[in-house]
Amino acid sequence: MLIGCPKEIKPQEFRVGLTPAAAHEAIGAGHDVIVETGAGQGSGYSDEDYRAMGAGIVDTAEEVFARAEMVVKVKEPQAIERKRLREDQILFTYLHLAPDPEQTRDLLDSGVTAIAYETVTDRAGGLPLLAPMSEVAGKLAPQVGAWTLQKANGGRGVLLGGVPGVRPARVVVIGGGVVGTHAARVAAGMGAEVTVLDRSLPRMRYLDDAFGGVFGTAYSSAAVTAELVAEADMVIGAVLIPGAAAPKLVSRAQLSTMKPGAVLVDVAIDQGGCFETSKPTTHADPIYEVDGIMHYCVANMPGAVARSSTQALGNATLPFMMALANKGWRLAAAEDEHLLAGLNTHKGKLTYAAVGAALGLPV
Ligand code: NAD
Repeated sequence: MLIGCPKEIKPQEFRVGLTPAAAHEAIGAGHDVIVETGAGQGSGYSDEDYRAMGAGIVDTAEEVFARAEMVVKVKEPQAIERKRLREDQILFTYLHLAPDPEQTRDLLDSGVTAIAYETVTDRAGGLPLLAPMSEVAGKLAPQVGAWTLQKANGGRGVLLGGVPGVRPARVVVIGGGVVGTHAARVAAGMGAEVTVLDRSLPRMRYLDDAFGGVFGTAYSSAAVTAELVAEADMVIGAVLIPGAAAPKLVSRAQLSTMKPGAVLVDVAIDQGGCFETSKPTTHADPIYEVDGIMHYCVANMPGAVARSSTQALGNATLPFMMALANKGWRLAAAEDEHLLAGLNTHKGKLTYAAVGAALGLPV
């Protein structure tokens, strides 16, 4: 199969859909790979890195889309990219169709077989192609929060880990899933006193078994949250209710109970945010202040570490991409219900129920 990887064109997107290592695996299995010139640049991969693995470098995205039997990307195709998709082509990328009727219409019009990273499942009931980005965002959260806590950035001038004789910062993580667990581990590793709030008892039992002694857990009731937030130097928002907007767990009124210069890092901002005063920010201008409390609410945190994110995403997508290339999508999906769960459109038909329900379209 001819696999093609164009350069991402969504603003501020520095990841790339195919690493040189993934290209090498595909070529080793007998496939051909073409990559648009400069596609890997934002993640620190040169055209030469791809050539060295046996991939062809082409000058334009048009050529990638025109020739590839499978297009591998990161972000949903932009309008100009959607015009280039064909019925006899596989598109393998993040799509997020439910809130995007325009993109859905274009994909259906093109007839492309679109497999969405975010709906591929695994045996444990998880979303294996979303998890790596949650891992990245979770590990980043204490790092950006620690920076925001610095005096020059508006924070209260507290060192996360303290020093001998000086108490460390207190960090509260709301939501103990993938983001929250990674955030708590890093914050604790930096020496902070960390408490993770969740509403799932089985999850807290797991966290206690795995990390008891490293960080504590508490049930996420309004009263306990209010008490811990008032004492915190940093609060990391990491909740998710699948398919719903994030619940608002810290109100504006509560900010006045917090220590001046404390920091809120709202990782759940891509689902609307879990603090009442959250609004999406960008890497160029990531923080702002409300009532003396600093907020960090970047909606695409993994973009800050594009190279690590590209590698993490590539590790997770590789087995699925290889199955698609080796077997063709029909057999690959017939043999793997988890890959089949990723199928969103095929030959002008919507094939994913939740997207149909969200957009009022037949499936
Ligand atoms: P997850 O499903 O693994 O974990 C969510 C956790 O929240 C679960 O353990 C759940 O029990 C808990 N929860 C639900 N309601 C709660 C409540 N009221 N109080 C406390 N805990 C509650 O999800 P995840 O992968 O960790 O993702 C968390 C959020 O981070 C999502 O909104 C996701 O979209 C977002 N995210 C953002 C970025 C970014 O760049 N900003 C990147 C990756 C993920």
